[in-house]
Amino acid sequence: MIYLDHAAATPVDEKALEAMKPYFSEHFFNPSAAYLPAKKVSADYEAAKATIAHAIGAKASDIVITAGATEANNLAFTAVSGAPRKVPTSFRVLYLEMEHDSIRAVAKKSGGKPIKVLPNGLIDLNDLKTKITDETELISVALANNELGTVQPLAEISGIIREIKLDRLKRGIKKQLLLHSDASQALNLLDINVARLGVDLLTLNSAKIYGPKGVGALYVSHDAKLQPLTVGGGQENGLRSGTENVPGVIGFAKAVEIANEHLNGNRKKYASFRKMFLSELKDFELINKKHVLDNFIVLCFDGIDAERLVFLLEDKGVYVATGAACAASKGVKSHVLKAIGLSDSQITGSLRVSLGETNDERQIHEAAKIINEVVQAERKRIGHE
Ligand code: PLP
Repeated sequence: MIYLDHAAATPVDEKALEAMKPYFSEHFFNPSAAYLPAKKVSADYEAAKATIAHAIGAKASDIVITAGATEANNLAFTAVSGAPRKVPTSFRVLYLEMEHDSIRAVAKKSGGKPIKVLPNGLIDLNDLKTKITDETELISVALANNELGTVQPLAEISGIIREIKLDRLKRGIKKQLLLHSDASQALNLLDINVARLGVDLLTLNSAKIYGPKGVGALYVSHDAKLQPLTVGGGQENGLRSGTENVPGVIGFAKAVEIANEHLNGNRKKYASFRKMFLSELKDFELINKKHVLDNFIVLCFDGIDAERLVFLLEDKGVYVATGAACAASKGVKSHVLKAIGLSDSQITGSLRVSLGETNDERQIHEAAKIINEVVQAERKRIGHE
């Protein structure tokens, strides 16, 4: 098997798995319990949270552990209180039009308006500037997109927001203006620091960085006042009640530690794999040329149905995707590829390849060869129809 869909899921790293195991059995105690072994589990849990938080330049008390990035994204949007206006004239929430569905869905519920992207996948800063009004309270822009891998200029965006906040202050407007970013895809490939990025809220996802699934975190700055999605025992500073997922968080922290150790090495390795892969492929258009994570490759094969390619490639042991796993499984056309202005036929012919730790150089050569053969056979078949 040659697995080229690491943006959808990553296998749990062996070391992360080993670190988790004792917390399923001998260290099973509830961290809130009063006896010593439970207190030890609680201390380990807090240390794991600190490891995750330090990776983004924050403290353990600044992050809320969630059951994945979807929940973290939904929690971030609780910063915007009250029901959306029935006939909005201006919008409290702005979000990038190519965000993951977990943002688009909650943003729409909160009365959100999309910000445009340019054909190169980067945010249209002019559109952002014209859409921010005195009513705007929350802006959500993913650090790296999950279909294209496009890395957004968050520090520049937060600079614009800072100026607007200053202007509001001068005019006596006290309304909050927060910047949220979904960094699900980026934690093992970019050096992330919340202060440098200037974000108030940041989503992290264990499942994309070789940690367990169903675990995530939300960084929350002191300026952001959130409402809990679940109430109960008051865990996670009252923002996420429920007994802590100790093994999950231990595994997440180990994955973060490993990601940090290999950050530069990973980037170099994937950049060289990407280059090699592209130089060996034939008859394609590269969609995500610049400003992208090194492990994302989006290819367009003109006139070919990429969904058929996915199945044909699976028969040869190569696993790829046409886009986000959730959209692909519903047969919905990619809103991301639409947002960057691709035509319907380009979208139909587009394939996402996301490289990762299961790959080596031999696999990259082999995958390029198999894709070339399958595409060529498909072109022949269409030509003969
Ligand atoms: N945000 C981004 C950018 C993602 O890629 C994903 C996963 O596909 C999510 C959020 C949702 O993550 P989860 O399904 O782990 O909640």
